[in-house]
Amino acid sequence: MNAPVLVINCGSSSIKYALIDSDPQAPRLAGLAERLGSSEARLKGKNSAGESFIQQLPDADHSEALSAILKCLEGRVPGAVGHRIVHGGEHFTQAALIDDSVVAAIESTSALAPLHNPANLAGIAATKKVFPELPQVAVFDTAFHQTLPPRAYRYALPEALYTEHGIRRYGFHGTSHAFVSQRAGELSNRGAGGWLTAHLGNGCSTSAVWSNQSLDTSMGLTPLEGLVMGTRSGDVDPGLHAHLHRQLGWSLDEIDNALNTQSGLLGLSGLTNDMREVEEQALEGHPGAKLALGVFCYRIAKSLAALSCALPKLDGVIFTGGIGENSPIVRSEVLSLLPHFGFSIDKAANETTIRGKEGKLDSVGHGGPEVWVIPTDEEGRIAMETRLCVESPE
Ligand code: ADP
Repeated sequence: MNAPVLVINCGSSSIKYALIDSDPQAPRLAGLAERLGSSEARLKGKNSAGESFIQQLPDADHSEALSAILKCLEGRVPGAVGHRIVHGGEHFTQAALIDDSVVAAIESTSALAPLHNPANLAGIAATKKVFPELPQVAVFDTAFHQTLPPRAYRYALPEALYTEHGIRRYGFHGTSHAFVSQRAGELSNRGAGGWLTAHLGNGCSTSAVWSNQSLDTSMGLTPLEGLVMGTRSGDVDPGLHAHLHRQLGWSLDEIDNALNTQSGLLGLSGLTNDMREVEEQALEGHPGAKLALGVFCYRIAKSLAALSCALPKLDGVIFTGGIGENSPIVRSEVLSLLPHFGFSIDKAANETTIRGKEGKLDSVGHGGPEVWVIPTDEEGRIAMETRLCVESPE
């Protein structure tokens, strides 16, 4: 298929889009329709000359926003649409050409991702209306982690919770972990060996990848498990919920809200969920910001050390996401907490590898595991999987 792929990431009030050519180097048309369903709905994007535009779309819904997006594609006609779908449960181990049975399976998984899957389904419905002729493909955040063995995905809970209710660890950010580990295998002469990946953005997760297969990951049933994130707590004692309910009278919704939206860097620093500001304030000596940075890095190092148990051999660690790609401070602090792995970091390379650049950070000839920064490309990976799926559906 030579035509470009339109990648869609649909939230409850937003649609992120990117039109991606078969030549990965070709410029992309990309943008975001936001505040949908409100009088302030608008479309922001860049044209092929790299110029930004904003178009007001008062009260537009998802279908109206997609029609407006179509008009911004400068006459280029997509050959397929690739949808980012957050939760595929155990139904999907790879991308799937969307038909009624795929829609039904995504619906049946909505209880596991109540905020995301219904929005993703709304995106599929709206896209079908606007592009009835085009093949549509679902690419799942969870699919890459379906290779986890039971010892990694099962919680130590009564079996029926797994067999009857699907309570297990699923993992997320799969397209990112898949993309950066495959890319490291291409760039390094170690090939597709054993890689620890750290996706550090507003959401954060780690993964252990062996021979292009995920063997463990830090997120679980939901994207709340694992690392400290912008506003999410990551791991807490499972007894915390009962304690907060009994001692403070908090409802489940209040607890859920506190752990998802008031915690993480924001909760620890008392200032912000934005790592740039946390770093600036920590350098100024703000105690909350210093604590937030310290806990954030320690928990990443602890997670990487734990996930190394999944790998027969460690070839290297990969940093990605807004923080992983741009923060020399976080990278050096995390690596300094793992002296027993024998990482050796080239300080100059660490300082200069920022703003979307690929870089190898380990000192030449040290023989220990490598350290890479690889800008993630979730949209590119979704387009690639969409192409493969359309060309050779299962
Ligand atoms: P999302 O998960 O929403 O896609 P990103 O991957 O863009 O988010 O990551 C956002 C995070 O990256 C924010 O915490 C932001 O502060 C951080 N970030 C971006 N640039 C830098 C930088 N230069 N130094 C430190 N952190 C940065």
